[in-house]
Amino acid sequence: MSVPVVIAVDGPAGTGKSSVSRGLARSLGARYLDTGAMYRIVTLAVLRAGVRLDDTTAVARVAANVPLSVGYDPDVDRAYLDAEDVSSEIRGDEVTKAVSAVSAVPAIRARLVDLQRELAAGADSVVVEGRDIGTVVLPDADLKIFLTASAEVRARRRNEQNVTSGLADDYEAVLADVKRRDHLDSTRKVSPLRAANDAVVVDTSDMTEAEVVEHLSELAQQRCGVRP
Ligand code: C5P
Repeated sequence: MSVPVVIAVDGPAGTGKSSVSRGLARSLGARYLDTGAMYRIVTLAVLRAGVRLDDTTAVARVAANVPLSVGYDPDVDRAYLDAEDVSSEIRGDEVTKAVSAVSAVPAIRARLVDLQRELAAGADSVVVEGRDIGTVVLPDADLKIFLTASAEVRARRRNEQNVTSGLADDYEAVLADVKRRDHLDSTRKVSPLRAANDAVVVDTSDMTEAEVVEHLSELAQQRCGVRP
């Protein structure tokens, strides 16, 4: 691609954000940064330290020293806690249940937002995926996308993913978890989940992943002049 651009992709769980962001990065030859993975690595470290999640001072203390790293390749999951590859473990139930509480701690957000800005900087284009990328982390992004879909559609998709990866088939439990996380993410005091005023809102309820990637890729070409 000719001109390096920064694209922010935000939205709640289950909108297809991850697959779509990876697909977009791939189609544009850009780097891909998964900020959710960073919150998940910190959450894993907090769980392993055995501190209570409601003890936010202790949670912040553990998080302040977590040696984490993530990769930029949309085709390779690379999430490290120190030298340990935790890419699978951070997708597990335990981390998924605890991550909203951990990511609501202001000191943790401050540290990770700084790190995300550092990682997004550079001469190469990047697609950055998260919850507050267009609003807080990269307010000057060249293109901001906010993906939405109904809670039911999102729960169905997540449940299908769970079944594919060998986890239990339990739509009702997944739906309850989607709604619980939506509520926590959109009502927290620091960086609540919301679309930036200048974001393009895309409802993916009735679109396939390929259709969304194509649509976003066209938007990137029209608005930022990028050529795949
Ligand atoms: O995207 P993913 O589902 O992996 O994100 C896990 C959690 O991390 C989210 O539910 C949210 O609580 C938190 N998160 C966040 N800000 C981001 C990315 C993720 O608060 N930029």
